[in-house]
Amino acid sequence: MHELSIAQSILAIAQKAAPPDGIITGVNIQVGELSSIELESLKFAFTAIRDETVLQKADLNIDIIPGEAQCADCNNIFHLPAFGHPCPRCQGFSLKILRGREMKVTSLTVED
Ligand SMILES: [Zn+2]
Repeated sequence: MHELSIAQSILAIAQKAAPPDGIITGVNIQVGELSSIELESLKFAFTAIRDETVLQKADLNIDIIPGEAQCADCNNIFHLPAFGHPCPRCQGFSLKILRGREMKVTSLTVED
């Protein structure tokens, strides 16, 4: 399961970054629309693995990064919500993905 390994890597990042005497109450991540990550599965996997770890009191806060593509034929830059859509201006399919594929941990919320 793809989302389980993502949740485990989020945990690994948080364990490295965890302060010695603070409680992590939130993990803030960015997920691109084109990353093919199932958000509900990721939330479920996160909840399943956080017990008895540095993340046991942490919520997963997900910030969605919109997909953006540039058409190689007419240079149009547009919002691409999912793969398989053509350029809205010329209907071309030669697209360069500019953003929306990423998944990264941006910050941890910590309370003393
Ligand atoms: Zn185009």
